[in-house]
Amino acid sequence: MSTELGKLYLVPTPIGNLADMTYRAVHVLKDVDLILAEDTRTSGFLLKHYEIGTPAQSFHAHNEHKKVGEIIERLKSGTNIAQISDAGTPGISDPGFLLVREALANEIEVESLPGPTAFVPALIKSGFPCERFVYEGFLPHKKGRQTRIEAWKEEKRTIVFYESPHRLIKALEQCKEILGDRNVSVSRELTKKFEETVTGSFDELLTHFGNKSIKGEFVIVLEGNK
Ligand code: SAM
Repeated sequence: MSTELGKLYLVPTPIGNLADMTYRAVHVLKDVDLILAEDTRTSGFLLKHYEIGTPAQSFHAHNEHKKVGEIIERLKSGTNIAQISDAGTPGISDPGFLLVREALANEIEVESLPGPTAFVPALIKSGFPCERFVYEGFLPHKKGRQTRIEAWKEEKRTIVFYESPHRLIKALEQCKEILGDRNVSVSRELTKKFEETVTGSFDELLTHFGNKSIKGEFVIVLEGNK
């Protein structure tokens, strides 16, 4: 007799504003048997807010390779599992890819719910063309950083990437040096109290952000090569 397989759900969570949780995300997280969270303490706040009592286990970049086999076995034996990250959409510069790949290889059904992610509102708010764009995740910190930016010289599509607050100025300076004259848009703290989007030349943005202490979360959007 064959056991029915469980299902894997990838569930986006808010990137700042708790009200951005979708009704479906809440229902799925309440209905599954297990939630895999990057950090169970961080997600605990969200789960409590939406009265989600489903058991949660940690599943993050440092243990996903070790745990993936055991998770697949649970899915195969009928357990329905949802993966969430600290914020935004799992798999977008967050764990997600590995489990999805293994689930599909084991013929387990995967559902990816639409929902919050940081690069989409930043792209839209830039005012740059968004019919075609490239998402570059995080730039490498050291090795390969320059090469990655150099590869954008001929890129005609709008380019979107994530950067930590302490590398924002460095990223703007390097892009200016390598790419020359281009418009850039920086979105900070999207959906939160101190949300701001500043768009202009590299020099304008360097002046804007260079004059204060840089805090928060950032998305950088570059105009493509015209
Ligand atoms: N999975 C997330 C998503 O779907 O956007 C991305 C997770 S990644 C580890 C975290 C990075 O996303 C931050 O360093 C920042 O670049 C960007 N980010 C997340 N929340 C943001 C927000 N509220 N405003 C601006 N950028 C944000």
